[in-house]
Amino acid sequence: MPEARALESEATLVAAALQTHLDQLEKPLRYATRQNFAHLAKLRDLEAYVQHHVQALQALPLPAALHTLLQRLLQAMHGVDALSLSQKQERIRQAEQLLSQMRVGVTDATVLSPAPVVVQVPALATAHTTTLGKQDTASPLAQPVQFLRGVGPKRAALLAKMSLRTVDDLLWCLPTRYEDRRQLIPLGLLRWGKRETFCGTVTTLQMHPTKRGKPFVALLLQDDSGALICKWFQTRSTYLQERFPIGTRVVGSGVVTLNPYTGAREVVHPDLEVLDNDDTQQVHFGRVVPIYPLTAGLHQKTMRALMKMVVDTYIPQVEETLPAPLRQAHHLASLSDALREVHFPDDRADLLRFNSQQTPFHERLVFEEFFLLELGLALRHQAVQREPRAVPYTQPNHLGELLIQHLPFRLTAAQHRVLFEILDDMQRPCPMNRLIQGDVGSGKTVVALLAMLMAVSNGFQAALMAPTEILAEQHLVTLRTLLRPLDLEVALLTSAVKGKARQQVLERIAQGEVMLLVGTHALLYDEVQFHRLGMIVVDEQHRFGVLQRASLRRKGLTPDVLVMTATPIPRTLAMTLYGDLDLSVIDELPPDRRPVRTTLMGEGRREQADDIVRREVKKRHQAYIVYPLIEEAESLDLGAAVAMARHLQQDIFPEFRVGLLHGRLPGDEKDAIMQAFVQGELDILVSTTVIEVGVDVPNATVMLVENAEHFGLAQLHQLRGRVGRGTAQAYSVLLTGPALSKEGRQRLHVMQDTTDGFYVAEQDLQIRGPGELLGTRQSGLPELRVGNVLHHSASLEQARQAAFALLQADPNLTQPEHHALAAAAQLRWGGRLELAVIG
Ligand code: ADP
Ligand code: MG
Repeated sequence: MPEARALESEATLVAAALQTHLDQLEKPLRYATRQNFAHLAKLRDLEAYVQHHVQALQALPLPAALHTLLQRLLQAMHGVDALSLSQKQERIRQAEQLLSQMRVGVTDATVLSPAPVVVQVPALATAHTTTLGKQDTASPLAQPVQFLRGVGPKRAALLAKMSLRTVDDLLWCLPTRYEDRRQLIPLGLLRWGKRETFCGTVTTLQMHPTKRGKPFVALLLQDDSGALICKWFQTRSTYLQERFPIGTRVVGSGVVTLNPYTGAREVVHPDLEVLDNDDTQQVHFGRVVPIYPLTAGLHQKTMRALMKMVVDTYIPQVEETLPAPLRQAHHLASLSDALREVHFPDDRADLLRFNSQQTPFHERLVFEEFFLLELGLALRHQAVQREPRAVPYTQPNHLGELLIQHLPFRLTAAQHRVLFEILDDMQRPCPMNRLIQGDVGSGKTVVALLAMLMAVSNGFQAALMAPTEILAEQHLVTLRTLLRPLDLEVALLTSAVKGKARQQVLERIAQGEVMLLVGTHALLYDEVQFHRLGMIVVDEQHRFGVLQRASLRRKGLTPDVLVMTATPIPRTLAMTLYGDLDLSVIDELPPDRRPVRTTLMGEGRREQADDIVRREVKKRHQAYIVYPLIEEAESLDLGAAVAMARHLQQDIFPEFRVGLLHGRLPGDEKDAIMQAFVQGELDILVSTTVIEVGVDVPNATVMLVENAEHFGLAQLHQLRGRVGRGTAQAYSVLLTGPALSKEGRQRLHVMQDTTDGFYVAEQDLQIRGPGELLGTRQSGLPELRVGNVLHHSASLEQARQAAFALLQADPNLTQPEHHALAAAAQLRWGGRLELAVIG
């Protein structure tokens, strides 16, 4: 394995060097040709310039084909400076052609063996957007739903609620399950205890106002063989009367039970549809029938009829996206077959496999979706240039070594391993791009600091960037405390640092007087000029956008980048979401940590929750009480938090010191409150979610979360991670509001059942999907509609490899067999592809 890695990294280096030299060679040529050779006369010493770069390239282990091209380039440039302008033009055109041949050559997978390497072609970004852009409007699948037969503005609005806006959206809206209506079982033979599909004629409809128990409506279905009672609770009988008048034939499904008193077969709340005698029967009856997700106001039958129409009309127009060799290699059905069959399976369909979505047709669609996702990512990856670092590191991490000797604890084995991986990266010729994953409390900060000291030991500045001001200030305190024995200074730069102090900090950064910096995204502002920035640590990447990484690069800085996240995600997904980041995992907590005890409490147990807080504070511990802030109504909820803090101080905990922290407070006030809590001058900190990540107060032992159902699991895990950082037993109390749904309760139970962040994140991912977990907007990824990154991880992996390989062979997707693919990628990624290319 290490050998393979070494080879791979060597190939990467060669590719990167090649890339750089080709870029350099292209510059003067581009300059010369611009505006119809307007600048040609100003160009001097072209031959020497080209010679210099060609010689550097000739020293690299490049394939013979490239060497030939380089030789021809030298010939083309031979004596060029002395030629007439028109002769020069001719030679420069030749040179440009040769260079573009080299570009094509290096993207050929065979060239840079042994390890395949993606070589980025800078001109591609724009070229790509334009090719893709053209096809977008032409696609019939991009047509909005409201222009479909039978869909007016009203229905379009309902569909939009389910994010179904175009024909393409509809085609990719898969049935949640299927019903076997090929041959129906006579009512008299229905088995009980099972979900069955049945058909019969309505013979009676009655309201049952029983004295005891809940009232219900009963509808009697009959056929030649027997009867079935359909029951509805809390439904108006008039509504049912209108929909299912006596004499109507209906088809339906539901779980059949046996009434213990009467022995009759019953179904509670069945899905019922009226059976017409016209041609729609082939859609709704006599076949395997799809059942679609719905929204209030949209009937199953309407939806199915619409789908049938869309499938019949548009599938013939669906172009195959995946090239034939790829489909063969992965045994994939054609796109049109797959789309047709998942909606309306043919008569031989294996219902079990359809219902578990494990047919070759489903698999094809999952692959397609992942493939388009990965193709976009591969484009993004291709556009990122890997330049070698300007100055290699020569010094060992002597400051880091010194710090390790002074730490109040011993690093865990996992911390050691990850630190080693980082330092190894920093001694390589290309800048580091690494993600550290580690559960809350696993000790990422100290590892990051040790890595920053490696940069400083080599004369570079290092910056730590946090998602909020409060966290930046927290990090400042942490770093200063840890660094005290080393007598190293740390400066802070956030939006809260103003006026003269700001000018001073900026100056000292520019002069290189401070080597260690902590801040927010203010670090990326134009006014910040670094003296020699070598490393940037980004805490909790998912709060940072792709654009922010790009903006660093635009400042001409290519520092080592280390990203820290407490959201543990599977490796393939990490690769997918973070593209070109390498991954290190701190999979061990420091010793002597007791797991936090988590309890879920309903509204009725509020006093009990308050008692836990009281008991702990009496033991001289501290507590957090957190309120959810709903973004759109921030000011409103803020009012609630302020009122609640006052209520807590005056009525519930008059004997304790209660402070309030929220995002709208001015920086210095926030700072003061946070410091007061850290110093133990406040017992209880009431807060909106601004404390979510990173705050470190080991003496805090209670985390009480109000309206816990408003939080995502990963968020709750983060919050819980704020306590249990010392040696005392810690508690997390999740209070739930009155409107908690059954699913909501189940979801929160995950928190009570485990303290394993990996498991929590996985559950969160299942429930919310990866886009939301990492903030779809920030991650800039298209929504996944059929693929599930957890269930279909093998498919994701294959799609990723296939997409990267395909782009290597055809970086612009210009080959004719890739046109449909390019159009599909454009449709799927929409405007985001352009954004992706910057990142
Ligand atoms: P996170 O990974 O959540 O950012 P921190 O870096 O904030 O975790 O560390 C959590 C706490 O654990 C801090 O108080 C830190 O000083 C402490 N810590 C870190 N590493 C160790 C270790 N090896 N042994 C004991 N305590 C540690
Ligand atoms: Mg942290």
